[in-house]
This record gives sequence, C-alpha cells and structure tokens, in this order.
Amino acid sequence: MTDVLNQLFIGGAWVDAADGATMPVDDPATGEILCHVADAGPKDAKLAEEAAVQAQQDWARTAPRTRSEILRRAYELILERTDELAHLMTSEMGKPLAEARGEVAYAAEFFRWFSEEAVRIDGGCGTLPDGRNRMLLSRRPVGPCLLITPWNFPLAMGTRKIGPAIAAGCTMILKPAPQTPLSSLALAGILKEAGLPDGVLNVVTTSRAGEVCEPLLRGGRIRKLSFTGSTGVGRILLAQCADTVVRTSMELGGNAPFIVFDDADLDVAVDGAMVAKMRNMGEACTAANRFFVHRSVADEFGRRLAERMRALVVGPGTRDGVDVGPLIDRTGRGKVEELVADAVERGARVLVGGRTPEGPGCFYPPTVLTDVSPESRLMDTEIFGPVAAILTFDDEDEVLRRANDTPWGLVGYVFTQGLDRGLRVSEGLEVGMVGLNTGLVSNPAAPFGGVKQSGLGREGGQVGIDEFLEYQYVAVPVR
Ligand code: ADP
Repeated sequence: MTDVLNQLFIGGAWVDAADGATMPVDDPATGEILCHVADAGPKDAKLAEEAAVQAQQDWARTAPRTRSEILRRAYELILERTDELAHLMTSEMGKPLAEARGEVAYAAEFFRWFSEEAVRIDGGCGTLPDGRNRMLLSRRPVGPCLLITPWNFPLAMGTRKIGPAIAAGCTMILKPAPQTPLSSLALAGILKEAGLPDGVLNVVTTSRAGEVCEPLLRGGRIRKLSFTGSTGVGRILLAQCADTVVRTSMELGGNAPFIVFDDADLDVAVDGAMVAKMRNMGEACTAANRFFVHRSVADEFGRRLAERMRALVVGPGTRDGVDVGPLIDRTGRGKVEELVADAVERGARVLVGGRTPEGPGCFYPPTVLTDVSPESRLMDTEIFGPVAAILTFDDEDEVLRRANDTPWGLVGYVFTQGLDRGLRVSEGLEVGMVGLNTGLVSNPAAPFGGVKQSGLGREGGQVGIDEFLEYQYVAVPVR
C-alpha cells in the first residue's frame, strides 16, 4: 500500500499533521498494518476550520448548477473506479469485495441524488394574513459543518453527508473513523478532481477524535454537526453542541426488532433475515438485533435460517466466494463473544456458529441462537456481528409492546402476508423506518433516520438537504 492517499486534506492541499504524527491502519482480515496515515491534532483541526470558514461565502454564492455538476462528475468518477475503491474499502474494513462494490454503488448514488436536489432548493413568496405584508422566503446554507462518520460503511456514510452539504452550499470538515480513513481520503481526491473548490471539503484523519472535534464544536465557527455513530458518543457531542447552539443531525444506534408472524411467507422472511442480519457481517445500525418469531413457526424459521447461515463462507473479503469477512477489530469481536456467552448462560441454544475460530484476523462465524431469554444482554445491546437471536411470541399486542420496549427506534422489520396487519404493526412500531416483508430499507432517495435515542433528523430523500439549510424570511410591507 504505497500509492494510497495518506495525508490530511486541508484547503485543497495534501499535508502532514502539524506535529508529524501518523497512525496505523490495520487489515482486519490479517491483523497486520496496511499503511500509516496522518494523525491530526487540534492545530490541524484549526487549519481545517479556517479553510472551511474562508471558503464558505464564495461557496454559498456558487450557482446551484455548478455545485450540482461537481457532484455529478464525482458520481461518475466513483463508478469508474468501483474496483479500486472496493479493494481499498475491503482492505481497511474487511467486508467481502462483492459487498464493497455494492457499497461503492450505494455511496455514488448519494452524489447523483443530491446533484439532482441541488438545483431544486425551494423558496417562496406570499401575502401574510393581514393582506398588507409580503413574505419572501429563501433557503441559505447553514454554514461550515463538521461531519463525523463511522467505520462500518466507510464510503457511503461520507457521501450521505458530503452530498447534501455540497448541494446546499456548505463547506465542511470530514472526520472519518480512525479504522477506515483511506476511503474518505480517496473520496476527497475524487472530489478535487471533479472540480470542488479548495477549502469546501477538508478531511482530518485522527486517532484523537475528542481533542480534534471538541474545540471545533465549542469554537462558535462551525454551525452544524452531522454525526453517525454510537448513542453514547452522540450524547457527548450533543452536550458539546449545546453551548454554541450548533445544529445537529444524529444517526445513532439501533436495536431493530425483526418480527415474523404465523401468516408470513417463510421463504421471504428467511431471505429478509439474511439481508437484515448478514449485510455487512451484521455491523450495521440497521441490523436485525432481536428476532421475534411467532411460536407456531419459530422452530421452522430457526431451522431454515440456521441452514442458510451454515452455508455461508467465512474468510478474507478479498478471496473469491467469501460471504462473510472479519469483524472490524478484536474489541468488536470480543463484544460479540461476550454477548453470545451471556445468552448461552441464560439458556439459549446454539443452532449454528457461536465459536471463535483460531488464527489471525477478527473472524466470527454466522450464528443462530434460539430460546433466547429476554433477560439476555444482547436484547438491549447492539450486537454488531453475525448473530441472530430468536425469541418467540404469541400475539400481536404482546410483540409490539416487546419490540418497542427499548430506548432505540431506528428500524423494524415486519413479515406477514396480511396487509392490514402489516400496516397496523408498522404504524405501531416506534421507529423511523420499517421494512415490510423486506430486510433492506436503505435507499438514497428515502429519508433514513430514527426516533427516540436512535437520533435526530434524516439523511437522504428530499428532506436530506434540509438538514444543511436554514430558512430566511424577508418581510416586505406594501404601502
Ligand atoms: P463505533 O463504536 O461504531 O466506533 P463511535 O460512536 O465510537 O462508534 O464512533 C463513530 C465516530 O465518532 C468515529 O469517527 C469516532 O472516531 C468518532 N468519535 C468517537 N468519540 C468521539 C468524541 N469524543 N468526539 C468526536 N468524535 C468521536
């Protein structure tokens, strides 16, 4: 790995950290160091902030069509480089190449979508109720933004924030997760090539997230935080944003219920479960975390799911035919092991998997647990691994109550062939998104986000750009 971009991107230039610090990037499939990247500190954050603040005014005045075309060019460049980007992503994050290619396409789609939205930012003009005053309504970019992204979708979590920020006319500092800086740096290179003016996007890779981000959020010049990550860190950041009243969008954790009724098509439900559980090795905030299966079909569902999970090939994401790559790191895997051990201690039966393999890399096998006790820790903890935990239920009211009995509310999955029941249960779930007879909800054209402690605001869809825009109203009396 000698030709990857590994410096900070500030004001359109590639630079080392001011104190010369670097940090290693590991390959989760081998545990070996892939390369080193610049490790930014507070001084670099200041420079990035200065660059974003300086660029803001001109960028806000840039024609929407120009902003749109930069995004469109970047969309095309990403697709042209699918293979290269997918390899980079697999090497730093571990997901199988086929999934990495899928993520590249998904990530690019946010740029296409927001290139289309950039030229449709609305405004208005009207008469106020008194009949005398007129109102001119326009939308303004909120200002320089801090974007903080997680490691699980290294490219798509970046484009989902950068796309609307560019479309809205905001400048930004992107701070990717320390485990996966390379995809973000490659993305910055692509945006530069696509013609993004200097200073509009700045990327600071760092192992010192707190030291870098807190002064930015408290400094009064950053006007917006868009964060995707854990609820715990989200809470800390919300508190930091309070002092200077920074606007926030928060995509936090989930604890998705996956509900299978007795009238579900079990083939469809098992297909849905494979996607909702195994996409990204279960390392997704949308991952099904609690399977509630009607008592009369639970054995059959568990058997079929276990059969499908058993057939999956585990190995390095770069190897042909591999379905399940390594988890992100030893800490992530350790947490999965502990949750499974706890569930088993409380009486769960292991239908498949459940044992950590020997050898290098952070691998964990696809696992199905049945007869899971509601007291198990994995019921109120994001598993973030390939473990399906099955519980049974008897009736609709009961399952809704249990599904909603969590502080999170990102997504839920419902499987039934009854239209009435499907809609009733979807509406009864306290979540921002529902997969009704499907295990996949993410789509750049739909608003992604949660309720309760899963977050604030939405990304993607027609409302995604609103998070980066303010209203300005001008009162005009007509005399
Ligand atoms: P995960 O557990 O999935 O790594 P985190 O919430 O810890 O989720 O991380 C998501 C993102 O938030 C990463 O980019 C991480 O570096 C960043 N982060 C973690 N702690 C802080 C902090 N105190 N301030 C700012 N960013 C942080």
